[in-house]
Amino acid sequence: MPLYEYQCAEHGVFERSRPMAEASLAAPCPDCEVHAPRILSAPNVPALPRGLSRAHERNERSRHEPRRVERAPRKECSAPRDPPRPIAAAGRPWALGH
Ligand SMILES: [Zn+2]
Repeated sequence: MPLYEYQCAEHGVFERSRPMAEASLAAPCPDCEVHAPRILSAPNVPALPRGLSRAHERNERSRHEPRRVERAPRKECSAPRDPPRPIAAAGRPWALGH
């Protein structure tokens, strides 16, 4: 599905992928759920790379009100972990016992 940009009056620009038929409809802001209008981007007039302009925008916003980042709980990693190091029961092998 294509990605479209919407602008919340409160939280700025966010992206939402949705079917083309729904692209012109307002999309709920991920932060406040208020329906935000779509931004018509001008692909032939790139002022700044998107990542950079978003960074600028975020920077501007956080000057006034830092954004709270709420992450979803991290999923359990399925990759095998390093095996636990064997505990040297005999103490330091290079040390002389008494
Ligand atoms: Zn919002």
